[in-house]
Amino acid sequence: MDNLTNNSSNDMHLPLALGIGAEGRVFANVAGAILPPGITAIVTPRQTHTCNVAVVTSPDQSFPDTDSLVTRCPDIAVGVRTADCVPILLHAPDIKAVAAIHAGWKGTAGKIVGNTIEKLVSLGADPGYIHAAIGPCVCGDCYIVNEEMIELFENAGLGDCVRRQGFNHDTGDRIEDGKPRLDLQEANMIIMRGHGIRQENIKTTSFCTMHYHDFSPSDNQKRYPFPSWRRTPGTTDRLLTIACLLTP
Ligand SMILES: [Zn+2]
Repeated sequence: MDNLTNNSSNDMHLPLALGIGAEGRVFANVAGAILPPGITAIVTPRQTHTCNVAVVTSPDQSFPDTDSLVTRCPDIAVGVRTADCVPILLHAPDIKAVAAIHAGWKGTAGKIVGNTIEKLVSLGADPGYIHAAIGPCVCGDCYIVNEEMIELFENAGLGDCVRRQGFNHDTGDRIEDGKPRLDLQEANMIIMRGHGIRQENIKTTSFCTMHYHDFSPSDNQKRYPFPSWRRTPGTTDRLLTIACLLTP
């Protein structure tokens, strides 16, 4: 996922790495393909759609009811698992810290990314230096919700992420069905900007876990590279998104 890798050339640390695969296979794949020498562990929390943030100081720790991890350990990668929810990575170069955040609708409305920025600030970070990357998640065209969720987001000051129409990415047609939709990527960018992260320091992807696909060259069937709970209810596949400090 080179388009999601933040390789700011003037950083002493190359902050953000991204790995993709199904749960169970991804660790080996990531470790072999992406993780650099020196990274000894990927630490992931036991995600339960909370807004809780924890700091990792040892690979042996466990993190129940936690959906965001921060670390300053140069040998540890932090990661989150998603299937439509929003994976967010942060890098605070001034304190040499990274974070990985799982933000579904609950975590987004509860502003877990804001909690994480506040944690980094409490460790000494200046938000003006923080870089962020948002990985593949369900897009604002595909994420149809109910009116109660719309009200929740509007009450949370996130009304600008509410949509009332969509876009059919297969046909290119507008969908003017009036159904309420949420753009979770936009919501998290609103929160990040509100906490002092510069828009130009936020990298995003246009990949939607629900609709994005390519075609098999052998039989021309659709192939979906990202796991999606809404497209495949009950799936146990997850996208693993990781952040680590890379010292050249
Ligand atoms: Zn979509």
